[in-house]
Amino acid sequence: MPFYDEKSLEVMIDAERLQARIAELGAEISAAYRGRGEVVLVGVLKGSFVFLADLARAIDLPVDIDFLGVSSYGDAQETSGVVRLTRDLSRPIEGKHVIVVEDIVDTGLTMQYLLEMFATRKPASIEVASLLHKPARAKVEVPIHYLGFTIDDEFVVGYGLDMGGKLRNLPFIAVNRADGQPW
Ligand code: 5GP
Repeated sequence: MPFYDEKSLEVMIDAERLQARIAELGAEISAAYRGRGEVVLVGVLKGSFVFLADLARAIDLPVDIDFLGVSSYGDAQETSGVVRLTRDLSRPIEGKHVIVVEDIVDTGLTMQYLLEMFATRKPASIEVASLLHKPARAKVEVPIHYLGFTIDDEFVVGYGLDMGGKLRNLPFIAVNRADGQPW
């Protein structure tokens, strides 16, 4: 018996589709960055940790891995636009090829903030890899060079994405159809 109510969670993207798409993204990134110098994957905590773990293993290059933390004020399910850095990178990125790894680009405000901040640190290049994109909610346009899936305007959970801190450990992306918590 899983810890969640299977009738409440509607699977949107199953584990097999996730892995197949991530293998493609890994191959694209490997081809694009081969021979170009130092590459660092920057995961945005906490949501990106599962995607980053799988994406990194799909990349056939000697990449560095680093993380940073952000939090936004306001409603838990929506970015307020005020993004705050809660944990910075552990190493400088100057002269390196940075790939920012996100779970989802929703309004785009978090990614816009991160790209502006990173640009001041003089990396050799910056690109974005996001597992999901919800274009219906975009408030600002941000470039996504490596995109897993475009999704409709629904609050999704699983595979790193949480509901009240939980459900990040689901191996698939789902939508909660219950009124309350599905666990
Ligand atoms: P943005 O700044 O693009 O609006 O939002 C980015 C962050 O909001 C994501 O990294 C994620 O933490 C959170 N977020 C946006 N949409 C969803 C969603 O559908 N489900 C979950 N769990 N988090 C979301």
